[in-house]
Amino acid sequence: MATFTTLELRLCFNQRRLHLPVFARWPLLYPRVLVRPLSEWPVHEAAGVQIIFTDIDDTLTHEGMLKANAFQALWDLYTHGVRVVPVTGRPAGWCDHIARMWPVSGVIGENGALAFRYDRDNQTMDTWFAQSSADRTNNINRLATVKETILREVPRAQLASDQPYRLHDLAIDYCEDVPRLSQQEIQQIVSIFAEAGATAKVSSIHINGWFGTFDKLSMMKRFAKHCLQTPLTHNSIEHIYIGDSPNDEPAFSYFARSIGVANIRNFADNLQHPPTFVTTLDGGFGFSQVSNYILESQGAGYSRNHLG
Ligand SMILES: [Mg+2]
Repeated sequence: MATFTTLELRLCFNQRRLHLPVFARWPLLYPRVLVRPLSEWPVHEAAGVQIIFTDIDDTLTHEGMLKANAFQALWDLYTHGVRVVPVTGRPAGWCDHIARMWPVSGVIGENGALAFRYDRDNQTMDTWFAQSSADRTNNINRLATVKETILREVPRAQLASDQPYRLHDLAIDYCEDVPRLSQQEIQQIVSIFAEAGATAKVSSIHINGWFGTFDKLSMMKRFAKHCLQTPLTHNSIEHIYIGDSPNDEPAFSYFARSIGVANIRNFADNLQHPPTFVTTLDGGFGFSQVSNYILESQGAGYSRNHLG
C-alpha cells in the first residue's frame, strides 16, 4: 500500500513485517488486509464520482433495517445527480420494489442473475436476465436436489425467508432469521453446493448457491453499458463500489476505488481482496459517510467532518 501512517510504519517496524495492516484510528489489527481510512480518499477523486454501485445488506442497512440516514443519503445523491445502483443477493421480488420506489437508477439482484430499471417516463420496467427462461427452469430443478441434501446433512440449516421470491438461486439463512450457524456448518453448506457443481457465495446473512456463470460484476458491466450508457472500466474515478463482506470481493478487486463499511472487519480474516478505503461507521451509517464525502467534494454543501 502506497500510504502508511506513522503508526502503521512503527507497527510494521516493531513486528519486522513490511505489510502489517492496521488502521491508525482503530484499535483493531486487520490480518492480511490492507485498507485506508475513507479520509485518505483524494477529494478530487471523490468529486468525480458519478455512479455508485452498492451492496444492500449491512452496507445500506444497519441491524436489519434501512434506517433514515441511509435512505436520506440515497435521496441526497439522487437529488445531486449521482446515480446509485444497489447490487444484492436479494430476490427478484424485492428488486421490482426497489427499482420502482427507491431513488436509484436500477438494481442488480440475485447475485447478478438479473437487473431491473424502472423507466418513469414510459412507466415500464426494463429487465435484463443472465439466463434464458428455459435454463432458469432447468437450474431451479437441479437446485431442488441440492436443497434436499443441505437440509438433510446440515440439520440446523433453513431456507432464507425470501426464498419464495427468487428466480435463479437457493438461499440458505445462516444468521438473519435463525440462530447463527457455525463456521463449520457454513463451510459444509458451501461444500455441498460446490460438490453439486454450483457456485456458492457467502453474504453477511445468507449462503447463496446457483448453477450458471453469472455474477454481480458481469451484470454490473452489462447494466452500465446498456442502461447507464457508460462502460464500466477498472480504473475510472467515476465509478465506485461499496460493500461489506466476502461476496463483494470480486467488485473490491475490480474497482480501483472501492469502499468497505466498517463492519467489514467481521470478515477480515477471510478477505483476499479488501476494499481500497474503509469507513469508520457500520452499515448504512458508513454509507452516509461516503455520500457526504462525495457530495462535499462536489461542493454540494455537505460535511466530511464527521468521519470519526
Ligand atoms: Mg452485505
